[in-house]
Amino acid sequence: MASAHGFDLDTFERLRRARRLAVVFVIGYLPLGLSLFFLNAPQFTGTVALALWLAVTLASLWYLRTHECPRCGQLFYADSKWGQTNLRIPFSGQCMHCGFTLAHAAEDRL
Ligand SMILES: [Zn+2]
Repeated sequence: MASAHGFDLDTFERLRRARRLAVVFVIGYLPLGLSLFFLNAPQFTGTVALALWLAVTLASLWYLRTHECPRCGQLFYADSKWGQTNLRIPFSGQCMHCGFTLAHAAEDRL
């Protein structure tokens, strides 16, 4: 189990912020689409809004993928820069390399 003394707190906070943002974009896609549908938004407007939301979501996932693990320093959600990505991104909170978990680290900080 990681402790507050065993990892970089700044890297940890940046990773948590990026993860939170990506989760909001991923989860928000469906409510946005449903609200556009039920509010009878014009088809072009709805399509453009969902396409933009999807582009921002993919960008946030790519940004999250570039973050390093606070403990081992390797990419948190990927094998390597162009390697395989954790398919549970952004919902997984565990480093692919060392098993560092964000939940345990957050509990240790309290
Ligand atoms: Zn790690």
